[in-house]
Amino acid sequence: MSSNNPQTREWQSLSNEHHLAPFSDFKQLKEKGPRIITSAKGVYLWDSEGNKILDGMAGLWCVAIGYGRDELADAASKQMRELPYYNLFFQTAHPPVLELAKAIADIAPQGMNHVFFTGSGSEGNDTMLRMVRHYWAIKGQPNKKVIISRKNGYHGSTVAGASLGGMTYMHEQGDLPIPGIVHIAQPYWFGEGGDMTPEEFGVWAANQLEEKILEIGVDNVGAFIAEPIQGAGGVIVPPESYWPRIKEILAKYDILFVADEVICGFGRTGEWFGSDYYDLKPDMMTIAKGLTSGYIPMGGLIVRDSVVEVLNEGGDFNHGFTYSGHPVAAAVALENIRIMRDEKIIERVHTETAPYLQKRLRELNDHPLVGEVRGVGLLGAIELVQDKATRKRYEGKGVGMICRQFCFDNGLIMRAVGDTMIIAPPLVITPAEIDELVAKARKCLDLTLSALQG
Ligand SMILES: *Cc1c(COP(=O)(O)O)cnc(C)c1O
Repeated sequence: MSSNNPQTREWQSLSNEHHLAPFSDFKQLKEKGPRIITSAKGVYLWDSEGNKILDGMAGLWCVAIGYGRDELADAASKQMRELPYYNLFFQTAHPPVLELAKAIADIAPQGMNHVFFTGSGSEGNDTMLRMVRHYWAIKGQPNKKVIISRKNGYHGSTVAGASLGGMTYMHEQGDLPIPGIVHIAQPYWFGEGGDMTPEEFGVWAANQLEEKILEIGVDNVGAFIAEPIQGAGGVIVPPESYWPRIKEILAKYDILFVADEVICGFGRTGEWFGSDYYDLKPDMMTIAKGLTSGYIPMGGLIVRDSVVEVLNEGGDFNHGFTYSGHPVAAAVALENIRIMRDEKIIERVHTETAPYLQKRLRELNDHPLVGEVRGVGLLGAIELVQDKATRKRYEGKGVGMICRQFCFDNGLIMRAVGDTMIIAPPLVITPAEIDELVAKARKCLDLTLSALQG
């Protein structure tokens, strides 16, 4: 790649010599060199070569209120000067963590008024696993240990997070999953629905939960965990029939339900939580990403009052992190939630930008490469296929990666999960910016199609 800026090469050689990037092929990255992102404002990024890029992924699903909000920087700076750190382990607390717990309880579904803070979504799910098992042990049912999860779900990259997740390519590295975690089918009609209608397939996929509970024995099952909409798996919006059937099954068996809200939470669906969108009644919700708009790391687990009542009888919960409820992160999260509220950002997503994005994205259905467009809120997926009617893929061509590269080269970040292109722009994206996103996406689909034909 030719370069306008000699510093780009310097940074790339620092990458080659010293940096190990997450979820990357180290050797391949060395040959190519990373793109260096140097600044950002609103929904746009700039790289070290001076290119302006529309960030259709909000960083990694997290930059809800957009880049460049001074209020968050000011909140961090003020908190760092006042109290940069103190732990919460030995019967102490500090104002930001307490005020944040209250602010989260105010927006969480009814009856979910307690928060355990962590440094990330993965740590939130590790916390969940230990808390679920501790809960059942306190109730005198220590055998209720198994957590049921879903294939192709994403729950993080720690040992427990990757085990809870259903990504086989992650399980292959490091002897995962750990014992006591099992996976059922995902509600991915486009990829796996075969000849069933979406509604039939949704019921079938939900019924896998009941079958698994019966197979393992309800006395051995502690919880079921799921993302309301699978994000990293490819923005998999379940068929309409899926969640109602899952809710019936959950009502029938005495197990906990955990909604992993790390992506859906904080407005992504046009509601505060994906659980509000689907009217789920979780016992626990994992949060991270949008909680701080990604300005600083923080995650957590929101816990239902009835669960806390049991935990209150269990003595010490022997779990926590040095940075649980970190005051600077808490101050940033508080300010982020204040901005979302005062500027009615989620209301605008709900009434204006989500309907507009969904309408405009679906116009891409007429493109010869597009097998399906789906989405909810400001989440969208575009399935790339060779044959629309049969949903047949271009085998072995890496169409998703080809399209992703065209996007990058044409000033749009759109991620590829296999041959599924996905977007999740900042929640503050405007209708004009949505027009730009869709126009660029169409251009890149055209370029991808030409590349396949050429
Ligand atoms: C990103 C993500 C996680 C993991 O969060 P980290 O902060 O990367 O540890 C967990 N669950 C879901 C649904 C996610 O998208």
